[in-house]
Amino acid sequence: MALKTFHGGVHPPEFKKLTETLIFEVMPAPQEIYIPLNQHLGKEAIASVKKGDSVSIGSILAEADGFISAPIHSPVCGTVTSISKQTTPTGFPQQTIVIKTNEQLENLFMSPLNPKTITPEEIIERVKNAGIVGQGGAAFPTYIKLTPPKDKQIEFVILNGCECEPYLTRDYRFMIERPEAVIEGLTLFLKAMGVVKGYIGIEDNKPEAIKIITRAAENENNIEVFSLKTKYPQGAEKMLVKAITGREVPPGKLPLEVGTVIQNIGTAVAVYDAVVKGEPAVTAALTVTGKGVKNPKNLLVPVGTPIKDVLDYCGGINGDAVKLIVGGPMMGVAQFDLMAPILKATSGILVLTREEVSRGEETACLKCGQCIDVCPLNLMPTKLVRYTQLGRFEDAGLFGITVCMECGTCAYTCPANIPLVQWLRLGKQRVKQIQRQQAGLQN
Ligand code: SF4
Ligand code: SF4
Repeated sequence: MALKTFHGGVHPPEFKKLTETLIFEVMPAPQEIYIPLNQHLGKEAIASVKKGDSVSIGSILAEADGFISAPIHSPVCGTVTSISKQTTPTGFPQQTIVIKTNEQLENLFMSPLNPKTITPEEIIERVKNAGIVGQGGAAFPTYIKLTPPKDKQIEFVILNGCECEPYLTRDYRFMIERPEAVIEGLTLFLKAMGVVKGYIGIEDNKPEAIKIITRAAENENNIEVFSLKTKYPQGAEKMLVKAITGREVPPGKLPLEVGTVIQNIGTAVAVYDAVVKGEPAVTAALTVTGKGVKNPKNLLVPVGTPIKDVLDYCGGINGDAVKLIVGGPMMGVAQFDLMAPILKATSGILVLTREEVSRGEETACLKCGQCIDVCPLNLMPTKLVRYTQLGRFEDAGLFGITVCMECGTCAYTCPANIPLVQWLRLGKQRVKQIQRQQAGLQN
Protein backbone atom coordinates (compact mmCIF):
# COMPACT_ATOMS: atom_id res chain seq x y z
CA MET A 1 0.00 0.00 0.00
CA ALA A 2 1.34 3.48 -0.88
CA LEU A 3 2.25 5.57 2.14
CA LYS A 4 0.22 8.68 2.73
CA THR A 5 1.90 11.96 1.73
CA PHE A 6 1.46 15.22 -0.25
CA HIS A 7 2.52 16.80 -3.53
CA GLY A 8 6.05 18.24 -3.91
CA GLY A 9 8.65 18.29 -1.13
CA VAL A 10 12.30 17.25 -0.90
CA HIS A 11 14.50 14.65 0.81
CA PRO A 12 17.33 16.41 2.63
CA PRO A 13 19.86 14.21 4.48
CA GLU A 14 18.45 13.47 7.94
CA PHE A 15 21.47 13.65 10.29
CA LYS A 16 19.29 12.31 13.14
CA LYS A 17 21.73 9.56 14.08
CA LEU A 18 23.77 12.12 16.05
CA THR A 19 21.12 12.23 18.82
CA GLU A 20 18.25 9.80 18.15
CA THR A 21 19.40 7.23 20.70
CA LEU A 22 20.26 9.75 23.44
CA ILE A 23 17.75 9.93 26.29
CA PHE A 24 16.73 13.34 27.62
CA GLU A 25 19.11 14.78 30.20
CA VAL A 26 17.95 17.39 32.72
CA MET A 27 20.22 20.41 32.62
CA PRO A 28 20.68 22.26 35.95
CA ALA A 29 19.72 25.93 36.12
CA PRO A 30 22.50 28.38 35.12
CA GLN A 31 23.53 31.33 37.32
CA GLU A 32 21.37 33.77 35.42
CA ILE A 33 18.34 33.35 33.21
CA TYR A 34 16.67 35.70 30.72
CA ILE A 35 12.89 35.53 30.28
CA PRO A 36 11.53 37.57 27.32
CA LEU A 37 7.95 38.80 27.83
CA ASN A 38 6.93 37.63 24.39
CA GLN A 39 7.61 33.96 23.79
CA HIS A 40 4.33 33.36 21.98
CA LEU A 41 2.36 34.55 18.99
CA GLY A 42 0.25 37.52 20.08
CA LYS A 43 0.56 40.30 22.63
CA GLU A 44 3.50 40.55 24.97
CA ALA A 45 2.76 39.45 28.55
CA ILE A 46 2.76 42.12 31.28
CA ALA A 47 5.46 41.77 33.94
CA SER A 48 4.04 41.22 37.42
CA VAL A 49 7.41 41.29 39.20
CA LYS A 50 9.95 44.07 39.67
CA LYS A 51 13.66 44.38 40.36
CA GLY A 52 14.55 42.90 43.75
CA ASP A 53 11.56 40.50 43.94
CA SER A 54 12.20 36.91 45.00
CA VAL A 55 10.71 34.21 42.78
CA SER A 56 10.22 30.44 43.03
CA ILE A 57 9.93 27.72 40.42
CA GLY A 58 6.46 28.08 38.92
CA SER A 59 5.66 31.52 40.37
CA ILE A 60 4.07 34.01 37.97
CA LEU A 61 6.49 36.45 36.31
CA ALA A 62 4.12 37.97 33.77
CA GLU A 63 0.36 37.88 33.12
CA ALA A 64 -1.24 37.34 29.71
CA ASP A 65 -2.35 40.58 28.06
CA GLY A 66 -5.65 39.93 26.32
CA PHE A 67 -6.99 37.02 24.31
CA ILE A 68 -3.96 36.03 22.22
CA SER A 69 -1.22 36.07 24.85
CA ALA A 70 0.17 33.72 27.52
CA PRO A 71 1.36 34.04 31.11
CA ILE A 72 5.01 33.36 31.95
CA HIS A 73 6.28 31.50 35.03
CA SER A 74 9.66 31.32 36.69
CA PRO A 75 11.74 28.22 35.86
CA VAL A 76 14.04 28.85 38.85
CA CYS A 77 14.28 30.19 42.40
CA GLY A 78 16.13 33.48 42.58
CA THR A 79 15.95 37.27 42.54
CA VAL A 80 14.87 39.58 39.73
CA THR A 81 17.88 41.76 38.88
CA SER A 82 16.42 43.77 35.99
CA ILE A 83 13.66 44.10 33.42
CA SER A 84 15.38 45.41 30.34
CA LYS A 85 15.77 44.97 26.59
CA GLN A 86 17.87 41.92 25.75
CA THR A 87 18.65 39.93 22.60
CA THR A 88 16.30 37.07 21.74
CA PRO A 89 16.65 34.22 19.21
CA THR A 90 14.34 36.12 16.82
CA GLY A 91 17.19 38.60 16.31
CA PHE A 92 15.16 41.44 17.83
CA PRO A 93 15.70 42.77 21.36
CA GLN A 94 12.74 42.41 23.71
CA GLN A 95 11.74 43.36 27.24
CA THR A 96 13.22 40.58 29.35
CA ILE A 97 13.08 39.64 33.02
CA VAL A 98 16.59 38.78 34.23
CA ILE A 99 16.81 36.50 37.28
CA LYS A 100 19.88 35.63 39.34
CA THR A 101 19.28 32.07 40.43
CA ASN A 102 19.95 30.55 43.86
CA GLU A 103 20.29 26.98 45.07
CA GLN A 104 16.73 26.60 46.36
CA LEU A 105 14.25 24.29 44.67
CA GLU A 106 10.94 25.49 46.12
CA ASN A 107 8.20 24.93 43.60
CA LEU A 108 4.83 26.61 43.36
CA PHE A 109 3.24 24.33 40.80
CA MET A 110 -0.54 24.21 40.54
CA SER A 111 -2.43 21.37 42.22
CA PRO A 112 -2.52 18.11 40.23
CA LEU A 113 -5.80 17.17 38.52
CA ASN A 114 -7.11 13.74 37.65
CA PRO A 115 -7.05 13.30 33.83
CA LYS A 116 -9.90 10.75 34.03
CA THR A 117 -12.37 13.02 35.85
CA ILE A 118 -11.24 16.47 34.67
CA THR A 119 -13.89 18.45 32.76
CA PRO A 120 -13.32 20.10 29.34
CA GLU A 121 -13.53 23.56 30.97
CA GLU A 122 -10.92 22.57 33.56
CA ILE A 123 -8.53 21.33 30.85
CA ILE A 124 -8.78 24.60 28.91
CA GLU A 125 -8.37 26.67 32.10
CA ARG A 126 -5.33 24.63 33.16
CA VAL A 127 -3.67 24.92 29.73
CA LYS A 128 -4.31 28.67 29.75
CA ASN A 129 -2.98 29.20 33.29
CA ALA A 130 0.08 27.04 32.58
CA GLY A 131 1.09 29.35 29.72
CA ILE A 132 1.50 26.46 27.28
CA VAL A 133 2.29 27.40 23.68
CA GLY A 134 2.52 25.21 20.58
CA GLN A 135 5.82 23.36 20.33
CA GLY A 136 5.68 23.07 16.54
CA GLY A 137 7.38 26.41 15.86
CA ALA A 138 4.79 29.20 15.79
CA ALA A 139 4.32 29.22 19.63
CA PHE A 140 0.59 29.92 19.33
CA PRO A 141 -1.07 29.87 22.78
CA THR A 142 -2.47 26.34 23.02
CA TYR A 143 -5.68 27.14 24.90
CA ILE A 144 -6.90 29.20 21.92
CA LYS A 145 -6.53 26.21 19.63
CA LEU A 146 -8.71 24.29 22.11
CA THR A 147 -11.49 26.86 21.79
CA PRO A 148 -12.20 27.25 18.04
CA PRO A 149 -14.99 29.58 16.85
CA LYS A 150 -18.47 28.14 17.49
CA ASP A 151 -19.27 27.96 13.76
CA LYS A 152 -16.32 25.60 13.06
CA GLN A 153 -17.16 21.95 13.52
CA ILE A 154 -13.94 20.11 14.48
CA GLU A 155 -13.92 16.40 13.57
CA PHE A 156 -10.28 15.43 14.09
CA VAL A 157 -7.31 16.33 16.25
CA ILE A 158 -4.02 15.32 14.61
CA LEU A 159 -0.84 14.96 16.64
CA ASN A 160 2.17 15.87 14.56
CA GLY A 161 4.89 13.29 15.16
CA CYS A 162 6.69 13.87 11.85
CA GLU A 163 9.61 15.97 13.07
CA CYS A 164 10.56 16.36 9.41
CA GLU A 165 13.31 18.94 9.99
CA PRO A 166 16.73 17.25 9.65
CA TYR A 167 18.85 16.85 12.84
CA LEU A 168 16.03 17.34 15.40
CA THR A 169 15.08 14.37 17.60
CA ARG A 170 13.15 16.00 20.45
CA ASP A 171 9.68 14.76 19.44
CA TYR A 172 11.15 11.35 18.61
CA ARG A 173 12.57 11.04 22.13
CA PHE A 174 9.21 12.05 23.64
CA MET A 175 7.51 9.27 21.65
CA ILE A 176 10.12 6.74 22.77
CA GLU A 177 10.43 7.83 26.41
CA ARG A 178 6.92 9.11 27.25
CA PRO A 179 4.39 7.35 24.98
CA GLU A 180 1.70 7.31 27.70
CA ALA A 181 1.99 11.09 28.16
CA VAL A 182 1.66 11.51 24.36
CA ILE A 183 -1.53 9.41 24.23
CA GLU A 184 -2.98 10.96 27.43
CA GLY A 185 -2.18 14.43 26.09
CA LEU A 186 -4.08 13.67 22.87
CA THR A 187 -6.98 12.28 24.92
CA LEU A 188 -7.07 15.56 26.90
CA PHE A 189 -7.18 17.53 23.62
CA LEU A 190 -10.10 15.39 22.39
CA LYS A 191 -11.98 15.79 25.67
CA ALA A 192 -11.40 19.56 25.85
CA MET A 193 -12.79 20.03 22.33
CA GLY A 194 -15.50 17.36 22.39
CA VAL A 195 -13.88 15.69 19.38
CA VAL A 196 -14.22 11.96 18.85
CA LYS A 197 -11.34 11.07 16.56
CA GLY A 198 -7.62 11.53 17.15
CA TYR A 199 -4.82 10.73 14.69
CA ILE A 200 -1.06 10.62 15.15
CA GLY A 201 1.09 11.06 12.03
CA ILE A 202 4.69 9.78 12.19
CA GLU A 203 7.18 9.63 9.30
CA ASP A 204 8.26 6.13 8.34
CA ASN A 205 11.91 6.89 9.16
CA LYS A 206 10.92 6.42 12.83
CA PRO A 207 9.79 2.75 12.98
CA GLU A 208 10.58 2.44 16.70
CA ALA A 209 8.37 5.44 17.53
CA ILE A 210 5.56 4.07 15.34
CA LYS A 211 5.79 0.72 17.15
CA ILE A 212 5.84 2.23 20.66
CA ILE A 213 3.07 4.77 20.04
CA THR A 214 0.89 2.17 18.30
CA ARG A 215 1.30 -0.12 21.30
CA ALA A 216 0.50 2.71 23.74
CA ALA A 217 -2.68 3.51 21.78
CA GLU A 218 -3.88 -0.08 21.32
CA ASN A 219 -6.69 0.24 23.90
CA GLU A 220 -7.83 3.63 22.61
CA ASN A 221 -10.47 2.92 19.95
CA ASN A 222 -10.71 6.57 18.95
CA ILE A 223 -6.97 7.03 18.26
CA GLU A 224 -5.26 5.88 15.07
CA VAL A 225 -1.57 6.00 14.23
CA PHE A 226 -0.46 6.70 10.64
CA SER A 227 2.91 5.93 9.13
CA LEU A 228 3.66 8.72 6.64
CA LYS A 229 6.20 8.93 3.84
CA THR A 230 9.42 10.61 4.95
CA LYS A 231 9.54 13.83 3.01
CA TYR A 232 10.14 17.46 3.92
CA PRO A 233 7.87 19.34 4.90
CA GLN A 234 5.57 16.45 5.87
CA GLY A 235 5.08 18.05 9.30
CA ALA A 236 3.70 21.33 7.92
CA GLU A 237 0.06 21.61 9.00
CA LYS A 238 -1.47 21.66 5.54
CA MET A 239 0.65 18.73 4.35
CA LEU A 240 -0.27 16.70 7.40
CA VAL A 241 -4.01 17.35 6.97
CA LYS A 242 -3.80 16.38 3.30
CA ALA A 243 -1.79 13.22 3.97
CA ILE A 244 -4.03 11.93 6.77
CA THR A 245 -7.55 13.14 5.90
CA GLY A 246 -7.21 13.79 2.17
CA ARG A 247 -8.67 17.27 2.76
CA GLU A 248 -7.16 20.43 1.24
CA VAL A 249 -6.82 23.45 3.51
CA PRO A 250 -7.73 26.45 1.28
CA PRO A 251 -4.92 28.95 0.59
CA GLY A 252 -4.47 31.41 3.45
CA LYS A 253 -6.80 29.43 5.75
CA LEU A 254 -6.24 27.30 8.84
CA PRO A 255 -6.82 23.53 9.23
CA LEU A 256 -9.96 24.24 11.26
CA GLU A 257 -11.62 25.28 7.98
CA VAL A 258 -11.62 21.58 7.08
CA GLY A 259 -12.61 20.35 10.54
CA THR A 260 -9.11 19.64 11.85
CA VAL A 261 -6.85 20.92 14.61
CA ILE A 262 -3.13 20.04 14.67
CA GLN A 263 -1.10 19.78 17.86
CA ASN A 264 2.54 18.89 18.31
CA ILE A 265 3.87 15.86 20.23
CA GLY A 266 5.73 18.14 22.66
CA THR A 267 2.56 20.16 23.27
CA ALA A 268 0.66 16.99 24.19
CA VAL A 269 3.34 16.10 26.75
CA ALA A 270 3.31 19.66 28.17
CA VAL A 271 -0.49 19.58 28.55
CA TYR A 272 -0.34 16.19 30.25
CA ASP A 273 2.29 17.49 32.72
CA ALA A 274 0.27 20.65 33.39
CA VAL A 275 -2.77 18.55 34.29
CA VAL A 276 -1.15 15.65 36.14
CA LYS A 277 1.75 17.46 37.82
CA GLY A 278 0.43 21.04 37.82
CA GLU A 279 3.59 22.06 35.97
CA PRO A 280 3.51 25.33 34.00
CA ALA A 281 5.61 25.91 30.86
CA VAL A 282 8.99 26.36 32.56
CA THR A 283 11.04 23.69 30.79
CA ALA A 284 12.06 23.54 27.13
CA ALA A 285 12.81 20.19 25.51
CA LEU A 286 15.37 20.51 22.74
CA THR A 287 18.02 18.78 20.67
CA VAL A 288 21.53 20.24 20.72
CA THR A 289 23.30 18.85 17.70
CA GLY A 290 25.42 19.31 14.58
CA LYS A 291 29.03 18.32 13.96
CA GLY A 292 30.12 21.62 15.50
CA VAL A 293 29.05 20.72 19.05
CA LYS A 294 31.31 18.43 21.08
CA ASN A 295 28.67 16.29 22.84
CA PRO A 296 25.29 16.39 21.09
CA LYS A 297 22.36 15.81 23.46
CA ASN A 298 18.61 15.83 23.93
CA LEU A 299 18.01 18.16 26.86
CA LEU A 300 15.35 19.42 29.26
CA VAL A 301 16.44 23.00 29.94
CA PRO A 302 15.02 25.76 32.17
CA VAL A 303 13.33 28.30 29.87
CA GLY A 304 15.48 31.43 29.74
CA THR A 305 18.84 29.62 29.84
CA PRO A 306 21.33 31.42 27.53
CA ILE A 307 22.47 29.43 24.49
CA LYS A 308 26.05 29.78 25.75
CA ASP A 309 25.27 27.86 28.96
CA VAL A 310 23.57 25.10 26.97
CA LEU A 311 26.58 24.75 24.67
CA ASP A 312 28.97 24.74 27.65
CA TYR A 313 26.88 21.94 29.19
CA CYS A 314 27.37 20.02 25.93
CA GLY A 315 31.15 20.33 26.10
CA GLY A 316 31.44 23.49 23.98
CA ILE A 317 31.89 23.87 20.23
CA ASN A 318 34.47 22.41 17.86
CA GLY A 319 37.07 24.60 16.18
CA ASP A 320 35.52 24.26 12.72
CA ALA A 321 32.01 25.39 13.80
CA VAL A 322 30.86 28.24 11.58
CA LYS A 323 27.10 28.60 12.04
CA LEU A 324 24.64 28.52 14.95
CA ILE A 325 20.93 28.05 14.31
CA VAL A 326 18.00 27.96 16.73
CA GLY A 327 15.44 25.49 15.35
CA GLY A 328 15.98 23.15 12.42
CA PRO A 329 18.24 23.79 9.40
CA MET A 330 15.30 24.41 7.03
CA MET A 331 13.25 26.90 9.05
CA GLY A 332 15.48 27.84 11.97
CA VAL A 333 17.00 31.28 12.63
CA ALA A 334 20.77 31.90 12.47
CA GLN A 335 22.12 33.48 15.67
CA PHE A 336 24.69 36.20 16.30
CA ASP A 337 24.55 36.43 20.12
CA LEU A 338 25.24 33.43 22.37
CA MET A 339 23.45 35.17 25.25
CA ALA A 340 20.08 34.83 23.46
CA PRO A 341 17.90 32.61 25.67
CA ILE A 342 16.06 29.34 25.12
CA LEU A 343 12.32 30.05 24.75
CA LYS A 344 9.28 27.91 25.62
CA ALA A 345 9.03 26.60 22.03
CA THR A 346 12.73 26.25 21.20
CA SER A 347 13.14 22.82 19.59
CA GLY A 348 16.84 22.73 18.87
CA ILE A 349 20.26 24.35 18.68
CA LEU A 350 22.37 23.41 15.67
CA VAL A 351 26.07 24.10 15.54
CA LEU A 352 27.18 23.45 11.99
CA THR A 353 30.65 23.09 10.53
CA ARG A 354 31.85 24.50 7.23
CA GLU A 355 31.36 21.07 5.65
CA GLU A 356 27.70 21.02 6.77
CA VAL A 357 26.83 24.47 5.45
CA SER A 358 28.83 24.34 2.21
CA ARG A 359 26.99 26.18 -0.51
CA GLY A 360 28.07 27.23 -3.98
CA GLU A 361 28.12 30.76 -5.34
CA GLU A 362 24.80 32.38 -6.18
CA THR A 363 24.21 32.67 -9.93
CA ALA A 364 21.42 34.00 -12.11
CA CYS A 365 18.18 31.99 -12.25
CA LEU A 366 18.52 29.06 -14.66
CA LYS A 367 14.77 28.97 -15.32
CA CYS A 368 14.86 25.26 -14.58
CA GLY A 369 11.52 25.28 -12.75
CA GLN A 370 12.70 22.95 -9.98
CA CYS A 371 11.51 25.33 -7.26
CA ILE A 372 8.02 25.22 -8.77
CA ASP A 373 8.02 21.41 -8.96
CA VAL A 374 8.84 20.99 -5.27
CA CYS A 375 6.72 23.73 -3.69
CA PRO A 376 4.10 21.88 -1.62
CA LEU A 377 1.70 24.81 -1.99
CA ASN A 378 1.98 24.94 -5.80
CA LEU A 379 3.43 28.44 -5.73
CA MET A 380 5.91 29.82 -8.26
CA PRO A 381 8.86 30.87 -6.08
CA THR A 382 10.97 32.10 -8.98
CA LYS A 383 8.22 34.47 -10.13
CA LEU A 384 7.42 35.67 -6.59
CA VAL A 385 11.07 36.43 -5.93
CA ARG A 386 11.43 38.26 -9.25
CA TYR A 387 8.40 40.44 -8.44
CA THR A 388 9.86 41.19 -5.00
CA GLN A 389 13.23 42.13 -6.48
CA LEU A 390 11.48 44.48 -8.93
CA GLY A 391 9.28 46.02 -6.23
CA ARG A 392 6.14 44.68 -7.99
CA PHE A 393 4.42 43.83 -4.73
CA GLU A 394 0.91 43.95 -6.13
CA ASP A 395 1.82 41.18 -8.59
CA ALA A 396 3.58 39.22 -5.84
CA GLY A 397 0.35 39.44 -3.81
CA LEU A 398 -1.77 38.34 -6.77
CA PHE A 399 0.46 35.28 -7.25
CA GLY A 400 -0.01 34.27 -3.59
CA ILE A 401 3.19 35.31 -1.83
CA THR A 402 1.34 35.74 1.49
CA VAL A 403 0.37 32.05 1.38
CA CYS A 404 4.04 30.95 1.40
CA MET A 405 4.90 29.14 4.66
CA GLU A 406 8.66 29.85 4.32
CA CYS A 407 9.42 26.13 4.50
CA GLY A 408 12.65 26.51 2.50
CA THR A 409 11.90 23.61 0.17
CA CYS A 410 12.37 25.75 -2.94
CA ALA A 411 15.66 27.24 -1.71
CA TYR A 412 16.99 23.78 -0.83
CA THR A 413 16.48 22.57 -4.38
CA CYS A 414 17.63 25.69 -6.28
CA PRO A 415 20.77 24.88 -8.35
CA ALA A 416 21.53 28.61 -8.68
CA ASN A 417 21.80 28.93 -4.86
CA ILE A 418 19.41 31.88 -4.83
CA PRO A 419 18.33 32.73 -1.25
CA LEU A 420 14.69 32.31 -2.22
CA VAL A 421 13.26 32.21 1.31
CA GLN A 422 14.91 35.45 2.36
CA TRP A 423 13.41 37.16 -0.70
CA LEU A 424 10.02 35.54 -0.11
CA ARG A 425 10.03 36.64 3.53
CA LEU A 426 10.86 40.20 2.49
CA GLY A 427 8.16 40.21 -0.20
CA LYS A 428 5.57 38.76 2.19
CA GLN A 429 6.25 41.40 4.83
CA ARG A 430 5.95 44.19 2.27
CA VAL A 431 2.75 42.84 0.69
CA LYS A 432 1.12 42.39 4.11
CA GLN A 433 2.16 45.89 5.10
CA ILE A 434 0.59 47.32 1.92
CA GLN A 435 -2.59 45.28 2.50
CA ARG A 436 -2.86 46.60 6.07
CA GLN A 437 -2.38 50.17 4.89
CA GLN A 438 -5.03 49.70 2.20
CA ALA A 439 -7.41 48.37 4.86
CA GLY A 440 -6.84 51.55 6.86
CA LEU A 441 -4.80 49.78 9.57
CA GLN A 442 -1.45 51.09 10.73
CA ASN A 443 1.62 49.18 9.51
S1 SF4 B 1 9.21 28.56 0.97
FE1 SF4 B 1 7.20 29.16 0.14
S2 SF4 B 1 7.48 29.18 -2.08
FE2 SF4 B 1 9.21 28.04 -1.19
S3 SF4 B 1 8.55 25.88 -1.26
FE3 SF4 B 1 7.97 26.67 0.78
S4 SF4 B 1 5.86 27.40 0.52
FE4 SF4 B 1 6.71 27.14 -1.55
S1 SF4 C 1 15.07 26.52 -8.87
FE1 SF4 C 1 16.37 28.36 -8.79
S2 SF4 C 1 17.32 28.43 -10.81
FE2 SF4 C 1 15.59 27.00 -10.99
S3 SF4 C 1 13.84 28.31 -11.65
FE3 SF4 C 1 13.77 28.23 -9.42
S4 SF4 C 1 14.91 30.07 -8.81
FE4 SF4 C 1 15.48 29.69 -10.92
